[in-house]
Amino acid sequence: MLPYELIEKKQHGNELTKEEIQYFVQGFTAGDIPDYQMSAFLMAVYFQGFSDAETATLVDTMLHSGSTIDLKDLAGYKVDKHSTGGVGDKVSLILAPLVAAAGVKVPMISGRGLGHTGGTLDKLEAITGFNTEYTLQEFRKQVDDIGVCIMSQNDNIVPADKKMYALRDVTSTVRSIPLICASIMSKKIAEGIDGLVLDVKTGCGAFIPEYKQTKTLAERLVAIGKKFDLDITAVITDMNQPLGNRIGNWSEVVESVEALQGRGPDDLMEVTLELCAHMITLAGKADSIDQAKNTLNDLIDSGKALDKFYEFVEAQNGDVSAVQNLGNYPKSKYSREVKAAQDGIVQSIDSYRLGMTSVSLGAGRQQMDDVIDPKAGITLYKKIGDSVESGEVIAEFYTDKESVLPSAEKQIQSTFEIGEESVEPPKLIHEVIE
Ligand code: URA
Repeated sequence: MLPYELIEKKQHGNELTKEEIQYFVQGFTAGDIPDYQMSAFLMAVYFQGFSDAETATLVDTMLHSGSTIDLKDLAGYKVDKHSTGGVGDKVSLILAPLVAAAGVKVPMISGRGLGHTGGTLDKLEAITGFNTEYTLQEFRKQVDDIGVCIMSQNDNIVPADKKMYALRDVTSTVRSIPLICASIMSKKIAEGIDGLVLDVKTGCGAFIPEYKQTKTLAERLVAIGKKFDLDITAVITDMNQPLGNRIGNWSEVVESVEALQGRGPDDLMEVTLELCAHMITLAGKADSIDQAKNTLNDLIDSGKALDKFYEFVEAQNGDVSAVQNLGNYPKSKYSREVKAAQDGIVQSIDSYRLGMTSVSLGAGRQQMDDVIDPKAGITLYKKIGDSVESGEVIAEFYTDKESVLPSAEKQIQSTFEIGEESVEPPKLIHEVIE
């Protein structure tokens, strides 16, 4: 087999055999097929798609590109959550300790920023010292000891996704249903979990914005999970505006701590509690979603969820004093306010462009070896449905890069569409697929 021929075969829309997909993915993971051929292959899949059979082979090949984790002998139900990616989506930082505080084990393999969206690992690594590189034994031990661990894929666990994910991030090949399915499900099946809750985002800040397509993605993810005997629920949630008010790695840690203190923004809390409630219901700790939400609210009100977050940060070598004294974190060299250009009501916020602007400020990668600036980001003071006056501050941004200041200000301002009509904020929970 020649990589060139396989790229060409997919480019023409032909179905690849199991052996051909295995050859390509295994060759790339081993370093025998270079990045530029994998980039071309990913682009061919992006345009031509994959059949269900090809997607199943891709999941299986990526899953077996390294070891899988066996958690069967750890007591209790093991459940995880994974999002298809959004802007300001810091749910995992709140959800993982919250669900662990409810007595359910949360083993989580997470990703880095992808395209216009942020990644859980980059957010957590904004906490000084925070370690996400674990061996399988260390991961198991921490899940057993404190009920939660968040680690990155590595050369042992789903190495194929680690390499393909980094390449998709910078080659604009993320928005592909089969590639998203394989990336997410290979990581999740490798964790050895019993149950999985998927947060499938829809709307302008999602990778798959259009609702019908989002639903197809959710159904395919659920079907793959079932094939691998997972208890699985997908919740389709809205991403027509950023979740919460903060975008950027450290800034999202701050908003997550505030959420665990019971001071989180309503939209962030609604989505987080819904996902957590499905997790603890799958785990048999609640009989209904409403009952689960009461339990979760009690854990926040009593401070138990926040204590679990501190315990988790400490276990992963993070600086607990940094998350206990949020104001002491270093500040960006530059911060600028963005003002409304006219009176009116916020009709929409182009979350994709806001996410890309945040990348340009330093919060994400434009090239594979770019180093993230954890301080860079955007705070929103207005969301869809809010009234604004001309000249009122609608957002603020932070960066160390002087060169991006004028363009960032203009871009952020133009992501807010302001009009006359009164608008309701978007409904957040669209559908639950079980
Ligand atoms: N999250 C992942 O892990 N992979 C994707 O492709 C998209 C979101």
